[in-house]
Amino acid sequence: MATRSSKPAILGGTPAHKKPWPAWPIHGAAERRLLLEVLESGKWWYGEKVARFEQAFARCHQARHAISCTNGTAALEASLIACGVGAGHEVITTPYTFVATASAILRVNAIPVFVDIEPDTANIDPKLIEKAITRRTAAILPVHFAGLPCDMDRINRIARKNKLKVIEDACHAWGGTWRGKGLGAVGDIGAFSFQMSKNITAGEGGLMLTDDGALADAARSFVHIGRQKAGQWYEHFIAGTNLRMTEWQGAILLAQLKRLPAQVATRQRNADTLDRELAKIEGIRVMRREPRGLPRSYHLYLFRIDERAFGLSRERLIECLNAEGIPCHGGYPFPLYRNPLFQRRGKGARFCPVSCPYYGRKIDYSKVHCPEAEQICRDVLWLKHAMLLGTERDMRDIVAALKKIKDHAAALR
Ligand SMILES: *Cc1c(COP(=O)(O)O)cnc(C)c1O
Repeated sequence: MATRSSKPAILGGTPAHKKPWPAWPIHGAAERRLLLEVLESGKWWYGEKVARFEQAFARCHQARHAISCTNGTAALEASLIACGVGAGHEVITTPYTFVATASAILRVNAIPVFVDIEPDTANIDPKLIEKAITRRTAAILPVHFAGLPCDMDRINRIARKNKLKVIEDACHAWGGTWRGKGLGAVGDIGAFSFQMSKNITAGEGGLMLTDDGALADAARSFVHIGRQKAGQWYEHFIAGTNLRMTEWQGAILLAQLKRLPAQVATRQRNADTLDRELAKIEGIRVMRREPRGLPRSYHLYLFRIDERAFGLSRERLIECLNAEGIPCHGGYPFPLYRNPLFQRRGKGARFCPVSCPYYGRKIDYSKVHCPEAEQICRDVLWLKHAMLLGTERDMRDIVAALKKIKDHAAALR
């Protein structure tokens, strides 16, 4: 590679990457065949395809039970209900996640307690969890953010010692592992999403994994309108709801799941290249590696920028990268507790449980301050998972674009 790189695309130079990136979602003959099978069978409802998908998903995560449902948010809510989390309970979670992690807690009338993240993993900081435990704490809800596993040894140990449930938000972690076991089945129960942007998708869809038969039965009953295995059809045991997956989704997901292992391997190989090469660029920090969690899933590839050392603001860097043909963005604008929902601004605030009569005291999110979560919102860049399905050459284009921009930082400010 030449020592002085060519002119940045934003100043009229040639973009570092000109080809289109891999499209998402991916589908083919298998999806078509299975969908037609459903169509022509006339059995469109919660049957053989859904059951086969549940079994296959459980097997590839070494979990005893899989319970499908409509989406990841519902899977989180059903997991909380199965664990007995309800009015007045506190649930310890991360503020650096999609809102569903916290809104699921609110929907069961429990109180999200936000604990700051580790700067080099973007995951909940296990060192801070114990300090956040109170008499009201019922569960810990860690998120394997971007697919990087949380330290599940430590989280499970804290939970056991304090008699808490561990509910994994595994909505970025399909096919990821902890010490060889599938994420989502390492705590008590784990929730997955198959929404359109996710690494396996049916447009919408969700699922729970657990090794605990009683939790599996409780989760199934909740999503299946209160039915139980031993009961009659019109005999309902709990105030459940209907969150059932359709056969259409089961069919597509069966086909998608077959592609997962190869995709996990490709993304990981490409992320390894980026980790190695980006770490060499002054002003860029890559995330920590977790040897206990390989293979891992990548829903996103994250890296952080030190604006002073790199010589450009993050916002300007994003503009320059986009011009180079490298789509990327800065992710969440602020941690979850800064949302109007928690700040009691706007109409949505009426769902906020801060007035929960079972809780017995006020909780004021305007006083919550998680400095690491706030900082990462200012300096991280996200690359989407489909880019990691590109070639080694595509990864080199990303690296070349960053080097070029860095070399010309003074002219780009
Ligand atoms: C996508 C996502 C969810 C919610 O999944 P849906 O299927 O969209 O409801 C929950 N948590 C995280 C971290 C997610 O990324």
